[in-house]
Amino acid sequence: MNRVLHRAPWLATGSFGTDLPLLIANGGGLVADGRIQAVGPWASLRQAANQVIEHEGCVLAPGLVNCHTHLELAWMAAVPGVPAATDDMTGWIRKLLVRRKDAPDEPVILAAGRAALASMAQAGTIMVLDIGNDLASAAIGKNQPTRVNFLLEMLGLAVSASNRLAALPLEMACTPHAPYSTGPALIQGIKQRSRLNGGLLSIHVAESAEEIRFLMNGDGPMMNFLLERGAWTPSFTGPGTDAVTYLDRLQVLDRHTLCVHCVHLRDSEIDLLARRQAKVCLCPGSNRHLGVGRAPVMAMLQRGLRPGLGTDSLASNPGLSIWEEMRTLRQDWPELDPAVVFAMATSGGSQALGLDRLYGLLTPGRTARFLAVPLRAGLSSDEIFPYLTTLGDSLRPRWVEG
Ligand SMILES: [Zn+2]
Repeated sequence: MNRVLHRAPWLATGSFGTDLPLLIANGGGLVADGRIQAVGPWASLRQAANQVIEHEGCVLAPGLVNCHTHLELAWMAAVPGVPAATDDMTGWIRKLLVRRKDAPDEPVILAAGRAALASMAQAGTIMVLDIGNDLASAAIGKNQPTRVNFLLEMLGLAVSASNRLAALPLEMACTPHAPYSTGPALIQGIKQRSRLNGGLLSIHVAESAEEIRFLMNGDGPMMNFLLERGAWTPSFTGPGTDAVTYLDRLQVLDRHTLCVHCVHLRDSEIDLLARRQAKVCLCPGSNRHLGVGRAPVMAMLQRGLRPGLGTDSLASNPGLSIWEEMRTLRQDWPELDPAVVFAMATSGGSQALGLDRLYGLLTPGRTARFLAVPLRAGLSSDEIFPYLTTLGDSLRPRWVEG
């Protein structure tokens, strides 16, 4: 058996609140049979290897995990540097729907999605959770170097919206859009399906203040928007409470539930997420672009939540780079530990998706596909994570394959 030792001045494990060291100096990763066999100071692994590959000037690191995107929207790339109106979620949705009326043909949509995915792969993304409204979009991520798990998104407040779900084969993994757009029976039906097929329930939660006002009071811009679209139904009386409490009342919050965005949360909701061991995906770039606010990440960490990161789509974010999400998060929360930000982008993401046995960590058993990220010369151990989390897309990682 060929046992290859990858050697570098630094090795970042991706550890998030575990005993595993965050950073190993003069590190090595021993790989064989497509899996990482051992990680540690390279000298301690030298005897076990029959080949050594040097990665001079680099830090070895896990591939990045993108917990939330919509590749089928890649064709409507946002204009860089032009922020949306502050906290006008319904205004943005209106614009999105207008643009969708002029959607190109399906081959163009799929090609744009594949091009976006290729750029994510090149930038070091190993795993993506992709959400689409069109079943055809599942083809975008098939047979690509970056693993893509696809969820078919469903919405509709009317009770009849559940009929479409019943018509789909059980193995089709589905996801409800959001508490304000998807009726309670459909949310519960999708959760039931994900419990049966061992999958994840992913849902946009508390992205905007407008959403919370609608759920709490049944009025405001979101209500007006739903009425205007003919999407509101008298059968949806509204929960009269916040988004997380509502989902908990529906009994859909557990460790296989991924709450995406989580910008407008009260402390009691963060407590509830932690008690239910629910997962969280933060999308700082999209939140900034739409002007909806910043998620309370410090409070989440204090309560033991370990968020992953997502880009959301090119309709609400100028790029699909997890390096840029790290940079945005650091700008939003300068007090955040850069090592924790890096952990969110790696094992935080793989834990959120329930795939940390394969991705997100440089530890034995994980897939032997990881990154060698060139560093500026002379960085000390204290400077590695600040470097990795503030350089954004100017970092140029190379893939290391088994
Ligand atoms: Zn989204």
